Amino acid sequence: MLSNVDGATLVKVARALGEDDAVTLVDILKDAGEITDDEIANKTSIRLNSIRKILYKLYDHSLVGLRRTRDPKTGWFIFHWRLQPDQLEGFILSQKRQVFEKLDLRLAYEKNHDFFYCYTPGCKRVPFEDAIELVFKCPTCGKPLMHYANERMLNALSKRVEQLRKELGE
Ligand SMILES: [Zn+2]
Repeated sequence: MLSNVDGATLVKVARALGEDDAVTLVDILKDAGEITDDEIANKTSIRLNSIRKILYKLYDHSLVGLRRTRDPKTGWFIFHWRLQPDQLEGFILSQKRQVFEKLDLRLAYEKNHDFFYCYTPGCKRVPFEDAIELVFKCPTCGKPLMHYANERMLNALSKRVEQLRKELGE
């Protein structure tokens, strides 16, 4: 059993894969040691096709390992899956790094642009260069575009980016 893998971490990973059923699946794998997709299907209400789809997704990220045997009666392959908890840490780190890089780019964009906004909910801010082209008129609602102070957003972004930079040891 993989007692060193904590449940919260597994849920995070499963969510990162964007599959609701992945949480259930990973939970079963954690307790099973090694299990076939048929056995997982018997334990849950998840369809076998979905189970296989999620398993291959996990396999793509090296989060599960695979052993193949042949059914002596039918001659078909049987797939035995097991969790690879040592890969979890790396996976989470790379997810975090992706978020960090995205936010860092966003921060630079916010820092390097002056924004203009019509202050209508649902409309978008536009950078100065575009606002000139639009003669300071909102392309969506037609109202005048006024300067938009993004300091609060900048502060929040900076904090988040710095926190992630620390966690990643960048
Ligand atoms: Zn507008």
